[in-house]
Amino acid sequence: MSAPILDTLLVANRGEIACRVMRTAKALGLTTVAVHSATDRDARHSREADIRVDLGGSKASESYLQIDKLIAAAKASGAQAIHPGYGFLSENAGFARAIEAAGLIFLGPPASAIDAMGSKSAAKALMETAGVPLVPGYHGEAQDLETFRSAAERIGYPVLLKATAGGGGKGMKVVEDVSQLAEALASAQREAQSSFGDSRMLVEKYLLKPRHVEIQVFADQHGNCLYLNERDCSIQRRHQKVVEEAPAPGLSAELRKAMGEAAVRAAQAIGYVGAGTVEFLLDARGEFFFMEMNTRLQVEHPVTEAITGLDLVAWQIRVARGETLPMTQDQVPLLGHAIEVRLYAEDPGNDFLPATGRLELYRESSNGPGRRVDSGVEEGDSVSPFYDPMLGKLIAWGEDREQARLRLLSMLDEFAIGGLKTNLAFLRRIIAHPAFAEAQLDTGFIARYQEQLLPAARELDEDFWQAAAQAYSQSLVRRERQDDPHSPWAAVDGWRSGLPAQVALHLSADGQDRAINLQTLGADHRLQGERLLVEHQGVRREHRAIRRGDTLYLHWQGEMRSITTYDPIVAADASHSQHGGLTAPMNGSIVRVLVEAGQSVEAGAQLVVLEAMKMEHSIRAPHAGIVKALYCQEGEMVSEGSALVELEQPA
Ligand code: ADP
Repeated sequence: MSAPILDTLLVANRGEIACRVMRTAKALGLTTVAVHSATDRDARHSREADIRVDLGGSKASESYLQIDKLIAAAKASGAQAIHPGYGFLSENAGFARAIEAAGLIFLGPPASAIDAMGSKSAAKALMETAGVPLVPGYHGEAQDLETFRSAAERIGYPVLLKATAGGGGKGMKVVEDVSQLAEALASAQREAQSSFGDSRMLVEKYLLKPRHVEIQVFADQHGNCLYLNERDCSIQRRHQKVVEEAPAPGLSAELRKAMGEAAVRAAQAIGYVGAGTVEFLLDARGEFFFMEMNTRLQVEHPVTEAITGLDLVAWQIRVARGETLPMTQDQVPLLGHAIEVRLYAEDPGNDFLPATGRLELYRESSNGPGRRVDSGVEEGDSVSPFYDPMLGKLIAWGEDREQARLRLLSMLDEFAIGGLKTNLAFLRRIIAHPAFAEAQLDTGFIARYQEQLLPAARELDEDFWQAAAQAYSQSLVRRERQDDPHSPWAAVDGWRSGLPAQVALHLSADGQDRAINLQTLGADHRLQGERLLVEHQGVRREHRAIRRGDTLYLHWQGEMRSITTYDPIVAADASHSQHGGLTAPMNGSIVRVLVEAGQSVEAGAQLVVLEAMKMEHSIRAPHAGIVKALYCQEGEMVSEGSALVELEQPA
């Protein structure tokens, strides 16, 4: 049988994974086809493709989830194969079938394997038969409250409710005791219905302090299947992975083999082909339990590539062409250690709400041995509210874990992002944390060290304002010289001398304002290129200072602070017109209103539930009080910042 021709590949995805897949495709000499929504017309993945096809629309449901449009795009561009990336349609058996029916190649497993693992309940039943250990729980058909109540009673609290169709940590709720069960079940079912179009749930024993250890498997079309070692993805926030590494620290060779072989059994039980991941929970006693199988390339595949030297996308293409796997299990390399962090546009200081806006400043870390950045954006790009807000991934490899960790820290330090909030500083605090350095990994890590990882916003200190004022005024002088040689600032000889007396600089940084009299500034800070040199008691330090438009970005105490000037008169006006109510933290729709005007509520009571980015966010009472007014109703769309509830403090 001759191998099918595969010289043109369409990537049915966006962002970093589309860029990453196309990079290998290009390296192998393939022609790349990108698809994009109207919003993504100029997104990096479409800019980088040889051919691009406009799907129209903005929402994923109008673009990246349109099976017919994607197949038409492949036909029109001459692509013989479609790579689904992760998310979107990557685990949609209907998509795999439609591709096959159109005479094209799906770079993923057979539709039947996706079906087998598509429902967490069905997958668990299957694994039970294949002899793979499961977490105690209930994964049956009956979905009434009573069934869940008695199942939870039987396995013992705390329990975890999971959407059978779930993924990405969504539709999952921990229930501590029976009093929370009804509310948690209803809310999880609603979330599951809106995210996956399927409200069915299962319930499991909620393991305390487990590790998430998963096995990368790879199968060809001839019945061969390998495990390419494991990844530890225990550092999670709300059941979503934040940091991933390979190999799993402290995992013995015997356990690796046992888990690897269980994973291969799981894959073979469903006739798997291509790249897949079998996820396990590992408890402190070294027992492991099957959680689910992801039938696609994972976000975190680069750490496996780093320790094996293999290119998994290249393997996907080869397997699709009918080639056999190029090695045996004993030949699979395991070299050194790799750690990856996921960089998101989100606000860690505000419950990790996704951030949108323009990347006014975006600079990646420099290239070098053991450093890899997989990203999907460039400076000037915008992050829209329509898709997952991940910007990219930073991956560091080292001969041992500590070398990888230090390398990753220096990459995080070199990254500079401005214009929207990101989790960069949060990631840095995780990787720098002593418990992380000691590889004390379990899924409770972030919650346990929350106070250190998410420090309360501190008042910016005097040293900062001095540095900010000096850096800002020097960058202003420099810019005026370049832009307008006749400006009075440009005439200033040296940056300070000759400044008009009593000039105050009104600076804003991190939501704080400060007026600083230029005459009182010291001269111990010098801006040189993009470095602010600060000399203090004979020690000279450098801080990065990058100007974009009217904003100066200054790297200070591990974070990029954006510094702008403000008009003191406008600021005074605005502070009088502020609304006293609770506002929508982002654009979304109101799914529930739980209070009425006149009602008194306890501190922390749920007032309104807002759905945004497919997640439910509760708006809770910051203090006890009486609901004075309600400004929203169920079903209504609200925009960020609009008032929802007005709460009065009781007299
Ligand atoms: P998803 O498909 O949404 O990613 P998973 O079933 O893979 O959901 O679970 C995601 C994470 O939730 C796991 O990595 C783990 O941290 C946590 N988790 C899942 N099941 C359990 C459990 N039974 N006990 C404790 N933690 C769990």
